Amino acid sequence: MIRSISRKLLLLLISTLLLFGLIIFSLWSLAQDQAQTRNNLESIMQIQLSIDSLRSQLWGFLQYEDTDMLKQVSVAQRKLSEKLEQFAYSDRYTRNMIRMNEHLSVLVAQEIKSGLSAMTREGQMSGRDLLHARYNMLVQNMTENLLDLQRKTLNQSRKNQQITLLLTAANLLIFSAFVWVFALLIYRHFQYGFKALKHGFHELSQGKLSSQIETSHLDSEFVSLAELFHQMKSALRKTMVSRDDLQTEVHRQTEELKAQKERLLFLSEHDYLTGLLNRRAFEEHLERALIKANRSGVKVVVLFLDLDKFKQINDNHGHEIGDELIRSIGQRIHHHIRTSDFAGRIGGDEFVICLDLLENIDCIEARIQRLSEEISQPVSVNDVQVSVGVSIGMSCFPDDASNKQGLLSHADKSMYNVKYSKRIERLDISDVV
Ligand code: GH3
Ligand code: MG
Repeated sequence: MIRSISRKLLLLLISTLLLFGLIIFSLWSLAQDQAQTRNNLESIMQIQLSIDSLRSQLWGFLQYEDTDMLKQVSVAQRKLSEKLEQFAYSDRYTRNMIRMNEHLSVLVAQEIKSGLSAMTREGQMSGRDLLHARYNMLVQNMTENLLDLQRKTLNQSRKNQQITLLLTAANLLIFSAFVWVFALLIYRHFQYGFKALKHGFHELSQGKLSSQIETSHLDSEFVSLAELFHQMKSALRKTMVSRDDLQTEVHRQTEELKAQKERLLFLSEHDYLTGLLNRRAFEEHLERALIKANRSGVKVVVLFLDLDKFKQINDNHGHEIGDELIRSIGQRIHHHIRTSDFAGRIGGDEFVICLDLLENIDCIEARIQRLSEEISQPVSVNDVQVSVGVSIGMSCFPDDASNKQGLLSHADKSMYNVKYSKRIERLDISDVV
């Protein structure tokens, strides 16, 4: 199967040229045949004229029985012989006529030889009549043969023309059918290739960069176009991000930025180790809480916590375990407070808690006690049990101070007093011991 449109079209062109050549050849052979028939008929006419001339010379001779007339007969007979010899159409009838003419020539020669005087002699009359009758019969036979020849020539020409026309028609039909079928196949294959390319371009116009054109049944011209098309698409794919990909990428980066922003915001407000508020954020929260409390006339309590002898934990167990302990204490503080309260880590082992919206602070002592016990619970870090005490001081808004700095400072001092009294207590105990 030819897989190239140009080759197929070339073959179609050659086929139509052959068809054209066949038509020309058929017309030429018909013309040749007609020319041949015309020549033959002209020759037959010439022979007919020679026979007519011979007949009239014979008639003259038989009428006048003259030696000159007999010579004229001989001349006419020779001319006929020449015409018959020239006639190329050799067949039974021509051969008969040649034979009859030869016979006539022999008879005329005998007559010339025997002489006219003898002819007129008595007793030879019946023989001469017989001879003259033979002349007439021979001429008559030649005329009939010529007519038969003419009929045969015409029949032969008709038959030849019929055969030529029949063969031409058959060849034309076969060739035309071949050209038609071939043209139809080319058309259908072209349509198939065109549709495949059109579909590919349509998909591309829809932004589908991954679609492929199936080339296994395409003509070579379409295969080259499809290959160029695929190259163009892969180049496009390299330089462009599809709309969906772009949207996904934008969405991913937006989410990442959002998460980063939230993380940064969290870090800017929170302590990295415990997740509690840092000093600045705690002070801001406290500021807002004081404004609210001032408006609603409720109390705000600030607790200041400092771990006791925390340095020893670091020294005895290492800084990492110290960190884990701080983290765990941060969690305990977080679980201890209510949702309206907030807590922060403002120094190495210093924590602050704001107990918000308090109407009654009578129970605060008990709460400090409970918190102190919770913080002092041992913590297991890497199979090491560690525990630490805590000193907690407090201040109350608006009783002890009316602003955040005052409250923090009061709570700090209060915590220091607690720590100091603990130390004194320990000293007393050691004294007792
Ligand atoms: P005191 O009973 O007087 O409070 O003594 P202390 O040993 O707790 O010492 P202090 O409160 O004066 O100092 C806090 C110590 O906590 C200092 C430092 O060694 C330690 N520290 C500070 N920040 C960190 C931290 O982020 N991680 C760890 N592991 N230790 C810290
Ligand atoms: Mg301490």
